Amino acid sequence: MSYLFPTYAKWNVTVKEAKGSWVTDVNDKKYLDFVSGIAVCNLGHANEDVLDSVKEQLSKYWHLSNMFHQPIQEEVAKLLVENSDGEAVFFCNSGAEANEAAIKLARKHTGKTKIVTFLKSFHGRTFATMSATGQEKIHNGFGPLLETFTYLPYNQLEPLDELQDDVAAIMLEVVQGEGGVIPAHNVFIEKIKETCDRIGALLIIDEVQTGIGRTGKPFAYQHFNLSPDIVTSAKGLGSGLPVGAMIGKKELIKSFQAGSHGSTFGGNPIAMASAKATLTKIFNKEFLASVEEKTKYLISKLNQEIGEHPFVNEIRGKGLLIGIECNEQTSSLIDQLRENNLLTIGAGPEVIRLLPPLNVSVEELDLAVEIIAKTFAAVNQSVTAQ
Ligand SMILES: *Cc1c(COP(=O)(O)O)cnc(C)c1O
Repeated sequence: MSYLFPTYAKWNVTVKEAKGSWVTDVNDKKYLDFVSGIAVCNLGHANEDVLDSVKEQLSKYWHLSNMFHQPIQEEVAKLLVENSDGEAVFFCNSGAEANEAAIKLARKHTGKTKIVTFLKSFHGRTFATMSATGQEKIHNGFGPLLETFTYLPYNQLEPLDELQDDVAAIMLEVVQGEGGVIPAHNVFIEKIKETCDRIGALLIIDEVQTGIGRTGKPFAYQHFNLSPDIVTSAKGLGSGLPVGAMIGKKELIKSFQAGSHGSTFGGNPIAMASAKATLTKIFNKEFLASVEEKTKYLISKLNQEIGEHPFVNEIRGKGLLIGIECNEQTSSLIDQLRENNLLTIGAGPEVIRLLPPLNVSVEELDLAVEIIAKTFAAVNQSVTAQ
C-alpha cells in the first residue's frame, strides 16, 4: 500500500542508483535513460561538476532567506542574462512558479488582464498556470478556471488577427513539449511578433522544457528571430535540484520592486550552486555545438531505422527534444521499450518523446536506436501474426 496520493501513473521500477545516462533498479536491471527526469538531468545523473559545486555550497550554508545578499544568485542570474535577451532574473522553485511570476509581472506592467495562450500548451499545475494550459484533461474537475486566459490554435495565423489591444501578453512554448513535441513554424513566430507589436502585448516564452541547451541553443527561441520580453525556465536549470527562473527585459524591472513578489526558497543557495555548475557547462559554444551534432545524428539514424515503419507517422522535434508520432496509442510501446532497457516517455497519446541527456555518447545513441528498431519490429510481427 502507498501513503501517497496516486497523482502519477507510476512505472513498476524502483531505482537503486543513477549515473550518467544509466539508471539501475533494485533488481540490477540497467536502463538507458532517454527521459532524463523529464528534461531535467541534462548533464546525465550525478554529474561530477554539479556534485562538487553543490558539496562546496553545502559546507558553507544551506539557506539564509532573501534578506541577505547572496553572490551565488548574482552569478547564476548573470549567466542567464548573458545568454538571453533579458536584464533581470527572479528565482523560484519550479516551472509553474516561473510562469506565475511571468503572468503577475505582465499584468502589473501593462495594467491589462487578458493573456493569450495556445491549445495543447502546457504551463503548469498551479491555479493560474493550469488555467493558462490549453488542455481540457488538465482542467477537468477544477473549474471554473481563471477568466484571464484565451486559447488560440497553435501554428495558425488568422486567429491572431482577431486580438485587440486589451491583451497583456501572449505566452507560448516554441516547441510544445507535453502537447506532443510540436515545433512552431517560422511564419507563426513572425506573426506572433507582429501581433504583440500591433496590440501592445508582452511576449512570454515558456522555456521550462526547451531551455538550458535542450535544443542546441541556450534557449529554443534563439532558433528564431525573436527577442521575448519574458522567458521562463526551470526543469534543466538545476540538474535535478528544484530551481525556476523568470528572466525579464530591462523595461520590466520597475514593475517588480521590493514587496511585489517573492518566494521563501527562491534562489536557495544549494539550488544555485547546482544551477551555476550546470549553466557553466551547458552555455558553452563547443558543448552546444555537440548537442546540434548529436541531434543530426540521432534524427538521421531514427529515420533510417524506423522512418518507414508502418506505425510511424513522423519523427520531429528540435535538438534533443524528439517526438516519434505513431498512428496509434503509444503507451504499450513505451512499456515494451522499458522492458527492453530503454526509458522513454509519452507526449500526448500518440507520441513517444526522447529526451536523452545532452552529453549522451554516440554509442548510447546507437544503442537507443537499436532498441527502438528491435522493439518496433517485434510489435509489428505480433500484429501481423494476429
Ligand atoms: C514542465 C513544464 C512546466 C511546469 O513545470 P513544473 O516544474 O512541473 O511546475 C511548465 N511549462 C512547460 C513548457 C513544461 O514543460
